[in-house]
Amino acid sequence: MDRIENLLEQKKKTGLLRTLKPAALRKEGRIYLDNKELFDLSSNDYLGLSNHPKLKEASIKATQQFGAGSCASRLLSGDLEIHHELEDKTAILKGKEAALVFNSGYQANLGIISALYKNGDAVFADKLCHASILDGISLSKARLFRFRHNDVDHLESLLKKQISKFESCLIVTETIFSMDGDRPPLKDIVELKEKFNCCLMADEAHATGIFGKNGSGLVEEQGLTDRVDLIMGTFGKALGSFGAYVAASKKIVNYLINTSRSFIYSTALPPSVIAANLAALELLKTEPFRRKILCENAAYFRHQLSSRGFEIKSSSQIVPLIIGETEKTVALSMLLTGKGYWALPVRPPTVPAGQSRLRFSLTCHHDHKILQNLIEQISEALNV
Ligand code: PMP
Repeated sequence: MDRIENLLEQKKKTGLLRTLKPAALRKEGRIYLDNKELFDLSSNDYLGLSNHPKLKEASIKATQQFGAGSCASRLLSGDLEIHHELEDKTAILKGKEAALVFNSGYQANLGIISALYKNGDAVFADKLCHASILDGISLSKARLFRFRHNDVDHLESLLKKQISKFESCLIVTETIFSMDGDRPPLKDIVELKEKFNCCLMADEAHATGIFGKNGSGLVEEQGLTDRVDLIMGTFGKALGSFGAYVAASKKIVNYLINTSRSFIYSTALPPSVIAANLAALELLKTEPFRRKILCENAAYFRHQLSSRGFEIKSSSQIVPLIIGETEKTVALSMLLTGKGYWALPVRPPTVPAGQSRLRFSLTCHHDHKILQNLIEQISEALNV
């Protein structure tokens, strides 16, 4: 028990204690808490779909038709036709033979990697890959090699040195990095995976719904669909609802249905969520203006920050402002809250020590005026 108390005390002292802050409502780029309305720059509701009438209607209708729960795992009696409809439509969007829905992105990464790789295999993951990817690797018992962020030369040298020692190898990257908002050199990585004859998995959690002609993601935008073996993504960010998927060959999907423990041993997503996800996929076709506006807002924000001298490495709707010291980051976040902007600090261990940051997560509802005012507040606070 002392250990628990000591850890909490230590976190408090160093400004790293995490606490929950319940909001009354979150809607269309705004958050309502403590009787105040703030611009919400900390959600992943990039396209503003979480409150879209079409998602809500679909969700309510599915609850009325099928009930509130799925009542069992998919392999028992939890499997409904709409689960398959969602998988078929996801596979089409992703340009792959098949798709499998998981209950969350965390469970997807855990379940995909741990089912496909084992002791005697190796996984080469970008240094900044999400915790769920690292946890999936650790559960798989494959040997982990982390390559320097977006550094294909480092990846190549690791592959050259290590690959012959392992039975089967995987390379994993994100297509938009969750805390940095930047992109990997995907084509170079694809070439390496082909040269070394291993598999490639792309986590499109933050790219799905935004990039590519059909809003499929960065893999689509780069024309690499056929060359990426496992395309994982989520429904809980730009798509406004909840859950996740992997799109791959039929063979891999059938294998995962038979072996992936986070898929097998968990109650299926409820009908309301599946129906909302289906509605979101439809909106990618009928309301492409959302991703267009989002990308314009993000480009404007990045450009304005850069022209004030801030170093901006992002090339997406996730725009981190790296402050460094945790206390200073927390103070800036609190100051912005006072000015009507909800931009939470991201601190170690989520990001490396000394790289505490405000991670601005933009939506299509954050127009130029809102962003310009935000930049004024940041500049004033930091004396830039
Ligand atoms: N992958 C990445 C890159 C993520 O950022 C996240 C969520 N932050 C996940 C996976 C997990 O997704 P979910 O929130 O659906 O569990």
